[in-house]
Amino acid sequence: MSPKGHKRLRPQEFQCLVGRCSDVALARIIKECARVLERGDPLPHPARTKIADDLREEVQDLLAKVPMQLNDGGDTAWSFLEPNRLLAHVVESCPPLAQAYGRATNEHMPTRQKPWDLMICYDEFVPGDKLKSYAARKCMVLAYNFKQLGEEVLCKDHSWMIPIVQRSTSIHDILGGWSHMLAKYLHIQLLGAQGLATAGVMLLINGAPLLVYANVQSILPDYDGVRIGWDWKGASGLRPCLRCANVFKKHTDLAARLDNCEEITCTDKALLMERTNTEFEEDVDLVTEAGVAYMAGEMTLERFTDIQRSTGQNFNPLGFVADKTLRVHVPPLDVLNQDWVHGILSDGIMGQEMCCFIEADLGVSMADYETFMKSDLRFPKHYYTKGARLWRVFDEHRNKPDNEEPTKIKGDASELMGLYALMRHFVELRFKDQPHELDVERASFNACCDVVDVILQMKNCLFGS
Ligand SMILES: [Zn+2]
Repeated sequence: MSPKGHKRLRPQEFQCLVGRCSDVALARIIKECARVLERGDPLPHPARTKIADDLREEVQDLLAKVPMQLNDGGDTAWSFLEPNRLLAHVVESCPPLAQAYGRATNEHMPTRQKPWDLMICYDEFVPGDKLKSYAARKCMVLAYNFKQLGEEVLCKDHSWMIPIVQRSTSIHDILGGWSHMLAKYLHIQLLGAQGLATAGVMLLINGAPLLVYANVQSILPDYDGVRIGWDWKGASGLRPCLRCANVFKKHTDLAARLDNCEEITCTDKALLMERTNTEFEEDVDLVTEAGVAYMAGEMTLERFTDIQRSTGQNFNPLGFVADKTLRVHVPPLDVLNQDWVHGILSDGIMGQEMCCFIEADLGVSMADYETFMKSDLRFPKHYYTKGARLWRVFDEHRNKPDNEEPTKIKGDASELMGLYALMRHFVELRFKDQPHELDVERASFNACCDVVDVILQMKNCLFGS
């Protein structure tokens, strides 16, 4: 019986105390607590500082300390978790994960000749209140995993190893920036004494040793990540696309003067020429050589700046793309995997397409869309909360009537993911008796919806890649 004055906690209240976990895990925690009390042992110390101290002690042996130079000429030691030691430690201390590695090994033994595929992703996060974020707390987080573990394991957050969490403000102080840090990191993970590409990483699976070899299959950054990782000038530069060899900035008049060149506004894919990894590396080398010549006083600043602009690359001899040893293992353009969420959904082509259509369709307003979103729509359980609030995208608070700005869809990526299908339905209903009205605009909008359809099907493995 519960002590007097203490009411019995309901499962939800337990969840509040221990954080969200499954009922099975919760039962295990309660059982473990009871066992500890029965033995007369003290319960684990609940203070945050104690928990942090325990964690620090546990990871002490896993830390790598890499000397880095600072922009102001000083030195610093960059510490992060040595990725391969981290992997061995986590797999050894987590039996279910070890089993997942064991299963993947049965399907595909990771040998030097047939290595596993390593996937690395990184992005910046701001911890704390999402409505009141402090830029000074922003952190760069890098995580990695292996493709061979399979979809089901990759979908689980805790199967991703996170060796780096670094304050963004400190990255700016380091000579060569994030791109340099990425190069250092890749050297350790792939080419170190226990590198995935050299000696292999020793894991213990249920007591049996397993040597894992892996190659970088993809690096997955967002747009800003590509800029800082690949030392690219970005989409506002003269070369707005990293992947196209013949695409130039709008209104620069360059495309008109050069053979087989296009401006960024070109919509015919047949006219676009893919830039090969070798071409990209040659451009990087050109910029590096120009930088060296400029610093030796053999080239003017104007010419040096022109070379950087025309290749779309910033001079960074310490950067990951300029590292000739790494290139053999990590061809920079081949491993680049840009994320579609930023390119297509919010602030991407889908958002733009929606705005253009709403502007072209004079018969309806944002308020009509708001009413439709508030109508009797039913959503799948996992999307229910988001779906029921989709009307907010069109509501007055987000779209202040007095602003002079053109129509803009102000929604985040997951809102747009639900919105595009509903908007397509709205448009189909609205024009079902007028097949010839706005047919060009509708075709364009529908084509964009098809793009998202195909990507989602690929994501859910319903479509051959
Ligand atoms: Zn392109």
